[in-house]
Amino acid sequence: MNSLMWFRQDLRVADNPALVAACQFALQHQGKVRAVYIVTPSQWMRHDVAPIQIDFIQRHVNLLAQSLAALGIPLDVLHLEWFSDTHAALKDYLQQHHIDAVFAGSEPEINERSRDNELIDQGIPLTLVDQDCVLAAGKVQNLSGDMYKVFTPFSKKWKSIASQKAIVPLAVPAPVAAALTLPSTIEFNYQTRSSEQWAAGEGAAKRALEQFLASQVADYQADRDFPALEGTSRLSPFLAIGVVSSRQCVAAILARYPEALVDDTCAAKTWLNELIWREFYRHLLVAFPRLSMAQNFNELGKGIAWRNNSDEFTAWCDGQTGYPIIDAAMRQLNQTGWMHNRLRMVVASFLTKHLLVDWRWGERYFRQQLIDGDLAANNGGWQWSAGTGCDAQPYFRVFNPMTQSSKFDPDASFIKRYVPELARWSLKDIHEPKTVNVNDLFAQRQGDGYPQPIVEHKMARLRAIEVLSALKRGQ
Ligand code: FAD
Repeated sequence: MNSLMWFRQDLRVADNPALVAACQFALQHQGKVRAVYIVTPSQWMRHDVAPIQIDFIQRHVNLLAQSLAALGIPLDVLHLEWFSDTHAALKDYLQQHHIDAVFAGSEPEINERSRDNELIDQGIPLTLVDQDCVLAAGKVQNLSGDMYKVFTPFSKKWKSIASQKAIVPLAVPAPVAAALTLPSTIEFNYQTRSSEQWAAGEGAAKRALEQFLASQVADYQADRDFPALEGTSRLSPFLAIGVVSSRQCVAAILARYPEALVDDTCAAKTWLNELIWREFYRHLLVAFPRLSMAQNFNELGKGIAWRNNSDEFTAWCDGQTGYPIIDAAMRQLNQTGWMHNRLRMVVASFLTKHLLVDWRWGERYFRQQLIDGDLAANNGGWQWSAGTGCDAQPYFRVFNPMTQSSKFDPDASFIKRYVPELARWSLKDIHEPKTVNVNDLFAQRQGDGYPQPIVEHKMARLRAIEVLSALKRGQ
């Protein structure tokens, strides 16, 4: 009896429980293992997957095909359009290759879960294996058996459960057959944008993890908010598509800091907490399917009268708001497909609070640009910033872009890297841009071709608090 490993958001051969299960099945039944990856361009477009992320996936599927060839497992790529095409294609594939069992890692998003449930209902012998989190969604619950709605108790419970568990990544399975000849290059039929500035592969991800833990994690708490520093791991592109697993990350922390789950003074504590935020948002997505459907977590969010000015939104997207810290951040996103976490919070606050643009516009734009685009974290981050989310920032807390700028990029070196027009500006002018004429926002430009601020901070802050007070009863 033969088995099939269906790769999705788990593009790795190490610590891949579904792959291990597929290999064990074939071994027990003296059968063969094959693997597939399914390309669905129309579905991806509907999900706003960024071309740079698709390119990153494509590179990893090629690398995966090579790793699998060494294990004697052929990888086929099926080119479909929609998730709804999967049943017919898989059915044919299973018949053609005499496959009896399909294994895949579970995914938390609603369309992915519906697709899988339908396939099972339609008779595809699909077994879903938890791979997405260290503690599978639903395993961390409060005393009433419900999902936590606040992060801190979630993280305490998460640590207490995790500390009782052996967190040991699975080894790469042994070869199931003789090595295959190297597969030819796989190309997706999708508009891609080069991701070459990011190293690819499980080896690259592992080296980045080890290097971060060896030399940066102890300073993470101090450095992580300064975008000019390499203060964070930059592992998110790998985690988002499963080139490295969160279990591998947590196990690597514990190998260096065995006390990390129980000792709050541990040097790796803050970084571990970020990985737990990742799990929190993924648990939320499963517990509250409306989050996958572009709905506010706090239902009072329906009452917010967003301004949704499309010219202002375009200025924000293009990094032309006249606030250097916002513009540098948006240009970093547009140029590299990645943005520093502190800046994600600052630009999201600016869009939703200063400009009163619906968080869904920003969430979508981020998704269309990010190499690490991830529905759970992106939705969580946007709703946190807008004040509509679970354990969100309160609606009346409005980041001051001037203070954020001087505090987190004091010498403006990050800003000048992405906004070269400001090379000769004084630090004071960069951190405290002045509005000369708020009624003529786009026409007025200063000498260096840099726009004036499109909104005046004090007025915008008061306006945001008034409009967002629709959320008040939800606090
Ligand atoms: P590190 O600081 O080294 O953290 C390690 C890992 O922990 C990250 O790679 C990530 O997987 C996880 N993590 C860290 N912070 C968070 C967080 N706040 N929420 C959830 N997981 C976290 N992250 C994404 O992976 N994809 C997204 O689409 C995404 N969109 C965001 C949108 C907004 C508005 C905000 C405020 C945050 C968003 N984040 C997103 C979370 C965070 O900004 C990124 O995970 C982080 O910047 C990635 O850089 P890093 O790998 O160096 O992170």
